[in-house]
Amino acid sequence: MKKILVTGGAGFIGSHLCNKLLNEGNEVIALDNFFTGNKRNIIQLLDNPYFELIRHDVTMPFFAEIDEIYNLACPASPIHYQYNAIKTVKTSVMGAINMLGLAKRINAKILQASTSEVYGDPIVHPQTESYWGNVNPLGIRSCYDEGKRVAETLFVNYYRQNKVRIKIARIFNTYGPNMHPNDGRVVSNFIVQALQNKDITIYGDGNQTRSFQYVDDLISGFEKLMNNTPEDFFGPVNIGNPNEFTILELAKTVIELTNSKSKLIFLPLPEDDPMQRQPDITLAKKMLQWEPKVSLKIGLNKTIEYFDTLLKEHFS
Ligand code: NAD
Ligand code: UDP
Repeated sequence: MKKILVTGGAGFIGSHLCNKLLNEGNEVIALDNFFTGNKRNIIQLLDNPYFELIRHDVTMPFFAEIDEIYNLACPASPIHYQYNAIKTVKTSVMGAINMLGLAKRINAKILQASTSEVYGDPIVHPQTESYWGNVNPLGIRSCYDEGKRVAETLFVNYYRQNKVRIKIARIFNTYGPNMHPNDGRVVSNFIVQALQNKDITIYGDGNQTRSFQYVDDLISGFEKLMNNTPEDFFGPVNIGNPNEFTILELAKTVIELTNSKSKLIFLPLPEDDPMQRQPDITLAKKMLQWEPKVSLKIGLNKTIEYFDTLLKEHFS
């Protein structure tokens, strides 16, 4: 049994990770300040004696004796990370410093939830780990993108200077149950709108692309990256599903799967919204023997079921 710390443990991805780690027989401590996370996501874990939930902000130091850290604390939806941009930078940068300092002190292995946003609005397509990216350092997305880039810098330098065992996962757009209904990201927005027969809000002309990964695939990639890589491997690894869709295609698929009467409406494209995104997962396939297994339709159906239940509970 390992003792594992998950920062952002009450969030969308964090809640799935805590659940999986506990099911595998580990002891889990979840840290969260509940900015975008919710106790509802982990309510079924609260009675488990091997699970501990601590209200804590990662911009402040934290100490515990643990074997591994998954550092997920950070708002991930553009509307939430732009709400308090300075706090977003602090969460990424000071959070990374505090967690890396802890990992160094107690000799824990640490995994960083980085992002495809480090590639910005990419000119290289699909994106390989060796691509340095195209980020506007002054734009409205930069608090998140640059915060995550500095976090990666901190991670590799804690490896170089202090031999901390680090792992960096560059996560591409991930969706699934436990996303917040008002999260603001495209999959949850479209499903909630479709289930309520409300207008589907397409930003721009909908020809921008994303590659959507179901959360279970991400969690298995996380664990393989943490456990199945050489101690001295410190490079970033793309974890995503390479099947690329336009936002219009996503909207039409969601309407079809929900039998919705929703209409499409077109709203302005937010500043610096990346036009294309697709992971090259050659490295993950080779090094982790990992590749995503869940198709968009299967993943969307599971997510639709989740939101359908949630909305019925809310309005009944
Ligand atoms: P989320 O917003 O649901 O979860 C983030 C969690 O971190 C929330 O529970 C939130 O309350 C907590 N948090 C935020 N600031 C904190 C702070 N200062 N101290 C403690 N807790 C704090 O988002 P998510 O989709 O679950 O994302 C989890 C991680 O994965 C994030 O680091 C995000 O950047 C990364 N990521 C996610 C995606 C995706 O598509 N979901 C893509 C790339 C990267
Ligand atoms: N988007 C959209 N309608 C929405 C929410 C998002 O058309 O209601 C678009 C958004 O402009 C972007 C894509 O969907 O082009 C993915 O947005 P999301 O916020 O989910 O993630 P990110 O832009 O960070 O990849």
